[in-house]
This record gives sequence, C-alpha cells and structure tokens, in this order.
Amino acid sequence: MSFDLLVKNAKLPDGRERIDIACRDGRIVAVEPGISGEAGRVIEAGGRLVSPPFVDSHFHMDATLSLGLPRMNESGTLLEGIALWGELKPLLTVEAVVERALRYCDLAVSQGLLAIRTHVDVCDDRLTGVEALLEVCEKVAPYLDLQLVAFPQDGLYRSPTAERNLVRALDMGVDVVGGIPHFERTMEDGARSVRALCELAAARGLMVDMHCDESDDPMSRHIETLACETQRLGLNGRVAGSHLTSMHSMDNYYVSKLLPLIAEAQVHAIANPLINITLQGRHDTYPKRRGQTRVPEMRKHGINVSFGHDCVMDPWYSMGSGDMLEVASMGLHVAQMMSRDEMRYAFECVTTHPARALGLQGYGLAPGCNADFVLLQAADTIEAIRLRARRLAVVRRGKVIAQSEPAISRLSLEGRPEIVDPATYAPGK
Ligand SMILES: [Zn+2]
Repeated sequence: MSFDLLVKNAKLPDGRERIDIACRDGRIVAVEPGISGEAGRVIEAGGRLVSPPFVDSHFHMDATLSLGLPRMNESGTLLEGIALWGELKPLLTVEAVVERALRYCDLAVSQGLLAIRTHVDVCDDRLTGVEALLEVCEKVAPYLDLQLVAFPQDGLYRSPTAERNLVRALDMGVDVVGGIPHFERTMEDGARSVRALCELAAARGLMVDMHCDESDDPMSRHIETLACETQRLGLNGRVAGSHLTSMHSMDNYYVSKLLPLIAEAQVHAIANPLINITLQGRHDTYPKRRGQTRVPEMRKHGINVSFGHDCVMDPWYSMGSGDMLEVASMGLHVAQMMSRDEMRYAFECVTTHPARALGLQGYGLAPGCNADFVLLQAADTIEAIRLRARRLAVVRRGKVIAQSEPAISRLSLEGRPEIVDPATYAPGK
C-alpha cells in the first residue's frame, strides 16, 4: 500500500489511542493502529491529539480586523457597535474588505480553523461586503470552506432597501438566508421577518441562520417563531438560531416548553461566548446576568449546540485571535460546564457540532472523509482547551498547509528541569 500522507501514533478526540491515519488523493483511507506502507510524508504524532479541523459557525468576515476604523467603540455595547459599523460602511471598499478577510483567513488556517460561516451585511446598496466576500470565497476555497449568510444588519423592514438587497445578495450566490428579528421595530415585525425569510429560504432550497433574540429581554421570543416556521415549512435540520441570549433571562416554565419545540424542529443553536459575555447584561447594575443561552439544558434536549467566534477586532469586539479553543474555553466557563464530560462536549461545540450546522460534507476522521485535520500539542480534547494548544500541523486534503513549533520554555533554575512542555502536565502523566 502507498499513501500520500501517513500520521503515526495519534490520539483521537473520542479517546482512541495509538491510531495511524493514512491519506491518499485528498481523502482519509484508513484509521487504525499499526498501518504500514510507503508514504510521501510521515507525521509522527507522538501520542498527541489529532482532531478534525475547527469550524466557526458564526462570524462577521466583512467587519473583521477593522478595529479603530473610523473610531473605537467607547461604550463597548452592541448598539454603539452597530452605530459604528454604520459609520464605517460607506467608507468600505471591495479591495480593503478582501484584503482584511484574506489576512483573517491566514490566521484562521494557522489555528486549524478550516471552515467558517460568515454573515455578510446586505444593508448597503452597493453590496460591497457581498461582492468582496464572494471573491474571498473563491480565493480561499482550496484551503478553507467559507459559507456566506445574507444578513440584514439594520433590520429587514427597518432598513428601507434591506429586503431587496437581501434577494440581490442571494441572486449573486450567497448561500444562507439571515435575519435579525429582535432588531426590527416591533415584536410583530420581528415575527413577520422570520416568516418571510424562512419562506424565502424554503422557496430557494437554502439554509437559514438568524441572529435571534440577541438581548436580555425575556419577552424576545423569536426563536419560538423560528422553530415553528422551520416545522411548518419542512426546513428541519437546515435552520440555525444564533445567540439566543434572551433565553438566559426567560421564565423557566416557558423555556421548558420552548426547548422541546427547538429539538423537534432540529434547529441548531449557536452561542457566541466571547461576545455574549461582554455584550449582555449591559442594562443591569448588580447582579449582572451572563446572558449566554442555556447550553447544558439544550444539550439535554438533544439540540445541536455550537460555539461561534462572532467577531475579531471589529466594531463590536476588540479582542479575539481566530482561536476556536479560546471560544470553547469561554463557553464552558460561562456555562459552568466543568465536568470532564462537559469539557469534552465543549470541544465538540467548535468541531463536529458546527460542521453539522453548516452541513459540511466529508468532515471527520473516518475512511472516506476529506483528509483535513489538525495535530495539537495536547494529550486530549480537554487539555487542548485548557492550554489553547499549539497547532503543530494543519492538514487540508492530505497536504500540510500550516506548521508551528511546539510551545516549549527553557528554564534556568538549578535543580529543576531544563525544559517545560505544558502538554506534559495532563492528569495521569
Ligand atoms: Zn453575529
């Protein structure tokens, strides 16, 4: 047997150890212990974790890396962020958006992040972001899957040309229908927008991903309408609700009725922990609500939950690094998911769960899947999150497309070891 790439002695996210992964013609052809054969390239994993690539289910690629343009968000609130983005939008050029997006994709790839669903604002009659990101999609396709959502940032009905522009964006090739029902002028307009957008998606055979109930208002219940419309139109499994933060503040009885509806409609839930913990609870004095949606409860109901990055250095969030392990870490902290089982689940929230929400084909570490994976400087998935582990190698279609040296420090302390490798501190080592 001959292979293009052979990975030796890997630990897999499901706990299997001493596994080899053989790849040929861009696909995984075997995943088992002791594979022998010629290989163009051999990677010795040394018992470290090999994972399918990270997937970001919620991002804003048209705004990323624009921090400081034209000014900073002084209050750090969602509403100042939206206002600031409104100031920046007329100044955007296709070239500048393309350039920033490509730079972000470089960073993403270096972090093993090989699939991103990005919302793109359609409330701009020039559709600058749409034109730019469609170009970026094509450019990055060999190394990164980019999925675009037509997002009416200023409100489908609140902004006079949003509806027309959203359809134009879909006609240009944008893949997913977005929305922002809680930002429409009235609850009724919000519900009407959900219905209209789901009908549009159903008619065109598209997926839906809405910014939904991104507030602390317990009466913001558009997720109920979204799940109900999903059922009515037979869109089960093709719809996602992003943020869903109002659920944090809802009455428990109401939520006990809501969760089974979301589960039945197979609506994917996408929390954005870094953003949610900074933007929610802003009208509170003390105690301050965390605002993140009810992740452990959704898990119990069998709802597919992902953690998204949402923003990196843009009008809404001045931090971020394209590192989905940072996102997973914040997600499990905010949700207080601290059992070993829950921490492993948090890793799935930035890998397999978003892959399902995006409908990625050929994702996973099994024979027949695309030969896409990441070798991490960590013993397992919990350790990967704890350490924000270094990505030693990133593989796409059987080729190494990014490499990093292990994070190792040299000590100058008498009587103590010369080298500290953070990955050797795993429990049981
Ligand atoms: Zn967003």
